[in-house]
Amino acid sequence: MLIIGSHVSFSKNQLLGSVKEALSYGANAFMFYTGAPQNTMRKELEEMYILAALELMNANNLDIKNVVCHAPYIVNLANRSDEAKYSFSINFLKQEISRCAKLGIKKIVLHPGSAVKITKEEGLNNIINALNIILDNEYDVTILLETMAGKGSELGRNIEEIKTIVDSINNKDKIGVCLDTCHLNDSGVDIANFDTYLEEFDKTIGLDKIGCVHINDSKNALNSHKDRHANIGFGTIGFDNICKVVYNPKLERVPKILETPYVGDFDEDKNRLYPPYKFEIEMLKNKQFDLNLLEKIRAYYKSN
Ligand code: FE
Ligand code: FE
Ligand code: ZN
Repeated sequence: MLIIGSHVSFSKNQLLGSVKEALSYGANAFMFYTGAPQNTMRKELEEMYILAALELMNANNLDIKNVVCHAPYIVNLANRSDEAKYSFSINFLKQEISRCAKLGIKKIVLHPGSAVKITKEEGLNNIINALNIILDNEYDVTILLETMAGKGSELGRNIEEIKTIVDSINNKDKIGVCLDTCHLNDSGVDIANFDTYLEEFDKTIGLDKIGCVHINDSKNALNSHKDRHANIGFGTIGFDNICKVVYNPKLERVPKILETPYVGDFDEDKNRLYPPYKFEIEMLKNKQFDLNLLEKIRAYYKSN
């Protein structure tokens, strides 16, 4: 069975709101940030929302093992120029993991970090050191390192950099990888040859380490090192290549999460944005590209 969903909001009734949003898209998986992705301010988790969310998931056969958290992207574990900031990031991620455990969620996606004004090796060492501190805990929560586009000094831009980190983690059971199709394309991996990439990944890191796949088309060319997501089938990767990932038998057990951009509408001088996920999920289930998808999304939300 296809395990698919999208990024959803956590701001309305916390996990309960996230589950409702995911179900409204016809999803059986989802991903959320526990607060704004660009900051580390977090609210206390509310017990009643957790219980109601779990009940609603149960009633709709949405398995919590297909729910993934995403750490805020401002956290940069590669940067140790300010020791206080570095410790803050470590402590924040420790808390984020305990929040996941409280919610019953077992996977958290993390951007490895950026080597700003330091060498790649120093950056990787700072990440490894931090992760070994963070993962020394009693919780059954795995950190998934996301494959990055290689924008600026981003680390995790190829299999070798990811492998260097994974190999140096003491607590091997608690480290994994999240593939992102847009990032892979922008880092130089041709999704048309996705099976070749998976073979190489299996030989170097192991397919069992893949815990999530972000499904995005890309606005930029192969090897552009940009990282701008496009709607499914409307970018340089293309619908058929995206389907090769979504329906890859080797990744059947892995949740596929859409992080594609909201669709703009400039009607009546109002600038509105609509979530594309319900329609993109349906299109992927149908395995048939729809050139009019964006128009259909605008029409649907305009009348609802
Ligand atoms: Fe990400
Ligand atoms: Fe991603
Ligand atoms: Zn991205």
